Amino acid sequence: GFTCIDGKKEAKSIRDEIKIQVSRMAASKNIVPGLAVILVGDKEDSASYVRNKKKACESVGIKSVDVCLPEDSSEEDVLKYVLSFNKDPSIHGILVQLPLPSHLNEANILNKIIKEKDVDGFHPENMGLLVMRGREPYFVPCTPKGCIELLHRYNVEIKGKRAVVIGRSNIVGLPVAHLLLNEDATVTIIHSKTKNPEEITREADIIIAAAGQPNMVRGSWIKPGAVVIDVGINHIEDPNAPRGHRLVGDVCYEEACKVASAITPVPGGVGPMTIAMLLSNTLSSAKKFITSNDL
Ligand code: NAD
Repeated sequence: GFTCIDGKKEAKSIRDEIKIQVSRMAASKNIVPGLAVILVGDKEDSASYVRNKKKACESVGIKSVDVCLPEDSSEEDVLKYVLSFNKDPSIHGILVQLPLPSHLNEANILNKIIKEKDVDGFHPENMGLLVMRGREPYFVPCTPKGCIELLHRYNVEIKGKRAVVIGRSNIVGLPVAHLLLNEDATVTIIHSKTKNPEEITREADIIIAAAGQPNMVRGSWIKPGAVVIDVGINHIEDPNAPRGHRLVGDVCYEEACKVASAITPVPGGVGPMTIAMLLSNTLSSAKKFITSNDL
């Protein structure tokens, strides 16, 4: 039969578990995990992601501190906050909402977050550790981790399977490909210069689509019985939708659900998992903080 992978439900159960652990930590250690979010500029999408992260923190009892800086902030303005959160013992996770305005150098800023608080996992050292065999990063990026968590929770076998990742961004495609590799999948990455991508996806037991191209993956691109994780979040115009537009993924869901054995919907698939993984990374950072102080 066909399974719709319910990211909303799984994310809820992860949040419930985190909530219990946060209250135990408060009771036994008198420590509340803290997440600092830095937003630069007034991009509506980014502002709404930050609001959702804040709401999610509140729902599990994680303290969230957000800083909203004006669009024309300098690198020094942003770094001032990063450096002060680095030193603040009540903050266990720091994230800078991306993308930053184009005059700011993203790498320079992400480099300054100490890796012990890099809950987004974008620090080059964490990315490096993710890629090296036998090494473990302090944190794994949230969206990629959410994709793998969904595969685990739906008992999808990864070891020895052919996995195809569409997209090679630092945020999604590249780290998710390495996570699959670390779980012994045989991984192929498709990107904007790949020729005949549909011939490659047709070989895949697992497809992870993160290209940001609405409905790119058609039913004919999918091997019967494959599992499809759709990371894409694309706004498309739709005169029949309440606001004149709606969200679709990178996969044509109506076609894919006739061929795949399981697929994530958009919305309600990977999106909620991303936020749940951010909460999970923040909690685990607070745990490590306690352990390191206990020594
Ligand atoms: P990006 O634009 O940084 O990267 C897109 C990647 O896809 C690039 O590597 C590019 O080479 C590849 N690509 C683009 N067009 C292609 C094509 N026609 N064929 C093959 N490859 C192609 O985007 P990103 O930040 O990696 O995000 C990808 C998508 O995932 C976007 O829709 C984004 O909104 C969504 N996203 C969702 C979540 C979530 O929580 N669900 C989180 C992050 C990003």
